[in-house]
Amino acid sequence: MMHDVQSTAVDRFHLDDLPLEFKQRFEVVIDCLPDGQHLALPAVVARGTQPGKILLCVGAVHGDEYEGAIAIQDIYEELQTDAMQGSFLGIPVMNGPAFVGALREGVWDHLNLARVFPGSATGSPTLRIAHAFHQHLLPQADLLLDIHSGGNAYAIQHLSGYQLREGEVGRIQRQAAIAFGADVVWGTGGLPGRTLSSAGQLGIPAIYAEMRGEGRCRAGDLERAKQGIRNVLAYLGIIEGAYPAAPPSYLVEMPGPGTGHLQADHPSPTSGIFVPAVDVWDWVEAGQIIGQIRHPDGTVLAQVPSARSGRVLFLRTLPRVFAGDTVAFVLPVPKHPAEPVPG
Ligand SMILES: [Zn+2]
Repeated sequence: MMHDVQSTAVDRFHLDDLPLEFKQRFEVVIDCLPDGQHLALPAVVARGTQPGKILLCVGAVHGDEYEGAIAIQDIYEELQTDAMQGSFLGIPVMNGPAFVGALREGVWDHLNLARVFPGSATGSPTLRIAHAFHQHLLPQADLLLDIHSGGNAYAIQHLSGYQLREGEVGRIQRQAAIAFGADVVWGTGGLPGRTLSSAGQLGIPAIYAEMRGEGRCRAGDLERAKQGIRNVLAYLGIIEGAYPAAPPSYLVEMPGPGTGHLQADHPSPTSGIFVPAVDVWDWVEAGQIIGQIRHPDGTVLAQVPSARSGRVLFLRTLPRVFAGDTVAFVLPVPKHPAEPVPG
């Protein structure tokens, strides 16, 4: 069954102009495609009895990440506007041109949306999506929650995170990431081109979350994403409810440029078939074999030793690798949370 959807140009989409105690699905139009169809963002809006705070929650910035998209729809359905103060603005699928192809990058321009923020009003579709979001949607938010996953080719430990910032924005981000309720909270020095860096430019607090991925949308991951959104809504005072206020066992902050770059760690030394020897969140010692690269004739082409001691945060699950594809990211944390970080 299709829902009743209201179509609005992105530059005319203002939450403050919408009624209180109001729920509506929107098509937020950015541009026209060559066949006359819309380049657009789907949006769901639930407004409470008072203007209050606005949580902007987005999914599928990468087109092969599904958990956030469904979680946002389910949360929209369950929200009761007469029990809300403030608003929920959900964009279930940020990257439609990648989503339809079940790909990480856009099918038309092959760009990674999470590398091009704040985008360009005159560029290719991915750049236009980024620009419309940065220019018109993000400035309306009090907090951004961007839900990712391991996608088609990787599995990742369930976590929430943020780019480290000074002052009030940094304090809110840390609290909101803890409130999300993941077992691991990870603050990093940050990288440009992300929704989080766009929010940073605008001085808006922003967090992200990772669901397992592995080319799937598991019921358990969906529930974790939904509970995380509820917790962050409660943290902002938009809905009533308890949320975690104390840090989890692993609250890891790694200042410095590029510290959150998962796709740069442990590149495969050669092309072939990756056979992992570890699973996500396993503890590994420095030098321990993470996996082998095999030739289709069975030959072991290479062993991949861990560059450091820590826990496997991110692991290749699509076996076919090209030389240079990352096979794992090992997070330098102690085996037991109370111990010092390994050198
Ligand atoms: Zn992603």
